[in-house]
Amino acid sequence: GSIDQDVFKQLESEVRSYCRSFDTVFAKAKGARLWDKKGREYIDFFAGAGALNYGHNNERIRSRIVDYMMNDGITHSLDMATEAKERFLLTFQHKILKPRGLSYKLMFPGPTGTNSVESALKIARKVTGRTNVIAFTNAFHGMSLGSLAATGNAYKRGGAGVSLSGTTFLPYDGYMGPLFDTSLLMEKMLNDAGSGVDKPAAVIVETMQGEGGLNAASAKWLQRLESLCREHEMLLIVDDVQMGCGRTGTFFSFEEAGIRPDIVCLSKSIGGYGLPMALTLIKPEYDIWNPGEHNGTFRGNNLGFVAATEAIAFWEDGTLELRIKEHSFSIRKFLERTAARYGGKIKEVRGKGMIQGLVFNNPDDAGQLCRKAFERGVIMETSGSRDEVAKLMPPLTIEKELLAEGMAKLEASLSEMYDFAEQ
Ligand code: PMP
Repeated sequence: GSIDQDVFKQLESEVRSYCRSFDTVFAKAKGARLWDKKGREYIDFFAGAGALNYGHNNERIRSRIVDYMMNDGITHSLDMATEAKERFLLTFQHKILKPRGLSYKLMFPGPTGTNSVESALKIARKVTGRTNVIAFTNAFHGMSLGSLAATGNAYKRGGAGVSLSGTTFLPYDGYMGPLFDTSLLMEKMLNDAGSGVDKPAAVIVETMQGEGGLNAASAKWLQRLESLCREHEMLLIVDDVQMGCGRTGTFFSFEEAGIRPDIVCLSKSIGGYGLPMALTLIKPEYDIWNPGEHNGTFRGNNLGFVAATEAIAFWEDGTLELRIKEHSFSIRKFLERTAARYGGKIKEVRGKGMIQGLVFNNPDDAGQLCRKAFERGVIMETSGSRDEVAKLMPPLTIEKELLAEGMAKLEASLSEMYDFAEQ
C-alpha cells in the first residue's frame, strides 16, 4: 500500500515522478546504501542519475563541509569572491584541466545542469550572432526553454506551453542503424545552400545519451562533429552533465575521443556531495559576457565549492579510475550473461563504464524489472524514448561485494519474471 505516501500525494505537485516507482519514504543513506523510514535497506543503482558518483554522505567530503561550517565559513556570498571559490578554481585548474591539457575559463551558471546548458547556448549564440543550434534525436539537455528546445523528448517538450524553436534535430550516432554514419547527413546539410537550414551557432551533444537510452557515440563520430564545427565555425558544446565526473571511466566523457569542445556543461556530481552546483567551461576567447549580463542569486554556493574541491582529490592517484574499470567490466559481464540467457526478451546490452543497461524488446519489462528489483531492495530506473532500457548506474565508489549483491538481486528478479512465469 501507499499509506506512507499520503502526505506527499496531498501536499506535493503531481509533477513528481518518484512516488510511481519507489513506494516508500527514505530516511538515511550512506555510500551506495539507503534506508527507508521503516529501516529497510536498499542498494542504490541509480545514484541520483549521476549526482552521487562518490556515494551518499561520503566521509571525506562530509568532514570538509562540516569543518567549513563549524569555522563559520561563508555559505552564500552573492557578488563577493570567496576563499572557497578561489580554492576550487585553483584545484580544478591544476588537478583536472592542466593534467588533461585543457584550457577553459570557469563560469558558474546557477545550481543545475539545465542552467549550464542554458548558459552554453546563450554564449554560443552571442559569440556567433546566429540562433540555430544542432541537437540530436533522443537528446536530453534540460527543462528551461532554451535547453528544452534542444531536448528531443516530445512528451517533455509538450510541457512547455509555447512552441520551441531555434533547433535543428539530426540523427544521433547509431540512430539509423550500425552501418550508417549519421554525421554524413550533417555534413550534407551544412554544405547544401538549398537545405533551408540557417547556419547553426553550435552543435550540442552528449557523448552518451543518459536519458535517451544509453546510446553511446563512437570516438570517430565525435571527431567528425568536431571537424564539422571547425569547418563551419560552429561551437562544439559537450553536455557532460550526466556522463561527466567519471561516469564513463574518465573525468570528462570526451577524453577518450580526444576532442576539444568549445564549451563543456557539468553539473550533478561536480558538487561532490549531491549539493546543487553547475559549471560551464568555456574556451577563454568565448568569455564574452559583460558583468551582469548573466546573473542569478544561487550562482556558486560555497558549500558546493568546498565539497567539489574535496571530490577532486578522488582523481589524483588513479585508484578511482581503476575501480571504475573493474566495476564496469563486472557489470558488462553480468549484463551480457543475462542478455544471452534471456535472448528472446532482451534485445541488447548498452552503455559503458558505470552506466550500462539492458534493452528490452517489450518496454514494459524494463519497468517491471525496476519494480521487482525495488521489492528486493535495489533502486534503479529506466531510460530511453520508450522507457525500454533498465539502467544500472551505482555510485562509482560502490564496494565490489555490494555491486555483486545488487546484480544478484537483479538476476533473481529476472528469473522471477521469466523462468517461473513460463513454467
Ligand atoms: N543534460 C543532461 C545530459 C542530463 O542528463 C540532465 C539531467 N538528467 C540535464 C542536462 C539537466 O540537469 P538538471 O536536471 O540538473 O537541470
